[in-house]
Amino acid sequence: MARLKNIGVYPGTFDPITRGHLDIIERGLKLFDLLIVAVAESQSKAPLFNVEERLDILNHELKKYKKIKVESFDCLLIDYVRQKKASTVLRGLRVISDFEYEFQMALINRKLDPGIETVFMMTSESYAPLSSRFIKEIARLGGDMNSFVTPNVAKRLKEKYGVKKG
Ligand code: ADP
Repeated sequence: MARLKNIGVYPGTFDPITRGHLDIIERGLKLFDLLIVAVAESQSKAPLFNVEERLDILNHELKKYKKIKVESFDCLLIDYVRQKKASTVLRGLRVISDFEYEFQMALINRKLDPGIETVFMMTSESYAPLSSRFIKEIARLGGDMNSFVTPNVAKRLKEKYGVKKG
């Protein structure tokens, strides 16, 4: 009998995608037949890049992976996961301070649908201090972003902040 496809959803704001996110995605690919990278609109976070821009950046960064689909969503995560017939939510953990928020969210999601699991993967230690928020700050101030984001993302950030060289 054919095995059911094991689908994972990796949700986030990805404003913009960092090398830390990419590290989690590569790890997540080992767990799932299909990994849906799901961009939350996150209007309350007032993102620097709008959803279309974030989708465009993600599609560019992830086009080499056959088992990845990039989509956006603007509803309850659990409803989206169900709609995609996915079994699992993938989240990344960097530092202890991530834990409390992630723990609460996972428990709430479990209450909303006990059939859907949340799986956490730890990033490599070199990416642990990375967050999109810090990277935007470095970009705004004209710092070197190459160890934090891919060259394409660095270019997009420079364009946003109007930094002409570097
Ligand atoms: P959200 O708004 O949902 O927190 P983010 O784009 O900030 O969206 O993060 C999406 C997911 O990626 C979260 O699980 C977050 O913990 C994880 N993540 C963010 N940065 C890193 C990193 N440097 N290493 C590992 N995981 C990360």
